Amino acid sequence: MKTINELIRMSNANLEAEREIRREERIREVYAKCDELRDTDEAIASARKTRLVAVIDHDEKLISRLETELEKLTARRGRIIEANGIDPDFDSEITLCSKCKDTGYVRGKDGTLQVCTCREADLEECFAGSGLENFTSYDMKNYRGDYLGEPEARKAARNKLLMVMLGAGEEFAKPLWVYYAAPQTGKTYLSVCIVKAAIRLTKSAFYTKCENLANLGDDTLEQLGRIDLLVIDDFADDVTLHNSIGSILNNLIEIRNAAGLKTVLVTSIPVGTLVSGCDMRISGKLKNAGSI
Ligand SMILES: [Zn+2]
Repeated sequence: MKTINELIRMSNANLEAEREIRREERIREVYAKCDELRDTDEAIASARKTRLVAVIDHDEKLISRLETELEKLTARRGRIIEANGIDPDFDSEITLCSKCKDTGYVRGKDGTLQVCTCREADLEECFAGSGLENFTSYDMKNYRGDYLGEPEARKAARNKLLMVMLGAGEEFAKPLWVYYAAPQTGKTYLSVCIVKAAIRLTKSAFYTKCENLANLGDDTLEQLGRIDLLVIDDFADDVTLHNSIGSILNNLIEIRNAAGLKTVLVTSIPVGTLVSGCDMRISGKLKNAGSI
């Protein structure tokens, strides 16, 4: 998996090349229409090179003559640009996104760092690599409080999950959380949206079904020990007893707890039942988990 920050860095390198290509294209177009400007710019470039040599040689007389010449050429250049209605920035690198100036990041109203809207492609790629490849249409905007009944409970769960993800305040400082709600109440939808929201806020995050932990490669598991937010859906006591999921999960929680990283276990089984039925090592950790 690549984090959103890694993907943005890669895109930035491409953007830099694109800006340069566009700059060269603009220069070519302008010169094709205006020979006089092209000749003047060539004369300026040549005078600058000669001046550089003169500076190295400490040839004060030549330096002074070249500086006068450069002043004249620059003034002539300005006149040509104005007379021909040419954009004076035609030979500058122009950023492609005015919102983020091609950095990929913007500050929200409250000052939080966010991924710029021009990076939807990076976000989509990041979502796909973060366990969300089957949830492309899931979006927090469509998570409605009144859907499936219990609007208050749904709203409260969303807000609490957001606070956990943001690590806001003492109350949400615990690393391990259990998000419990009855079956068919939109838990998966909300879990996916929280992971997406975290990534939009430039965090590293991953979504997986609990049973799928056994199918993830060692590299991915190692990364899951380091990312900011890990959401494990369909967590159930019996799942922890098969396919070495118990030890994988125990390991992950231990590493993540020690680093103070947020892990959310999503389940439709009451915590009491989980504690008595889970792999012993995990039961112990569940007792200290926060609940949503
Ligand atoms: Zn942008």
